[in-house]
Amino acid sequence: MARAVQAVGGKRGRLTEAEGWWARQRILTLTLYCGIHASCLLVLWVGASRADLALFAATFFGRMFFITGGYHRYFAHKTYETSRAFQFVLALMGATAIQKGPLWWAGHHRTHHKYADQPGKDAHSPRDGLWWSHQMWIFDRRFDGSAIEQIRDFARFPELMWLNQWHVVPPLLLALTCLAIGGWSGLLWGFSISTVALWHSTYSVNSLAHLLGRRRYATPDDSRNNWWIGLLTLGEGWHNNHHHFCASARQGFLWWEIDVTYYILRGLQALGIVWAIREPPAQVVNATIAAREAQQRAA
Ligand SMILES: [Zn+2]
Ligand SMILES: [Zn+2]
Repeated sequence: MARAVQAVGGKRGRLTEAEGWWARQRILTLTLYCGIHASCLLVLWVGASRADLALFAATFFGRMFFITGGYHRYFAHKTYETSRAFQFVLALMGATAIQKGPLWWAGHHRTHHKYADQPGKDAHSPRDGLWWSHQMWIFDRRFDGSAIEQIRDFARFPELMWLNQWHVVPPLLLALTCLAIGGWSGLLWGFSISTVALWHSTYSVNSLAHLLGRRRYATPDDSRNNWWIGLLTLGEGWHNNHHHFCASARQGFLWWEIDVTYYILRGLQALGIVWAIREPPAQVVNATIAAREAQQRAA
């Protein structure tokens, strides 16, 4: 699996001083990742109250929105516009999901779209192994650094560069908040269990949404539309739509393709917090595999 990215690994995502102290703490990072997983077992002793489950739902879906609506649809794809202040809110809240900083996340994601499922170029293609595309690539030394050259448009903001180095601060604050609200069981449900569920739901877009589901569009990659990943990730499961036209803030192209992130963005637009939301043009939506085949038959 390590062969996956050898072709570009030397250049891409190289660890630089811009990454800061935390990015060099590999053993500590791995220990925390495994530790947060293991801590979920404490649920056998702690149990779950209604308040714990409410905290879990709030921190799971709340953070999911900031990953999908912030890290993904704003920083990686710029599918809408907002103020510099709300841009920072998106980055700060996205960082609470413990998926590193916004520049790291969005930079590597832009590279994924450039080379999706191409051997030796895509960091996380299931063609190199399901487990690799799901999470192992994150721990490969070649991806420790941010692909700053891919994300220069946002790297010019000093507050984002700071957060990219100190992405560990927002999750710490979240953990303390959960502890203050719900005690030890609040910390377990609102932080540990919620984070593990959030990690694997997000990762399933990189792994399972390139394997399971239907393809409506003839994209050069293996991306699929998968309704249950769509529900879990507030709309990211319409991944074949997304690879077909990634400039759109809306990923559920058809009315029945539930895309909660898009609905929230429309709500924020009504409040004047975001604007210039990009939609897929009709000819893009209609350019399906089925339409192309029908055209070929008629010709
Ligand atoms: Zn993809
Ligand atoms: Zn994307």
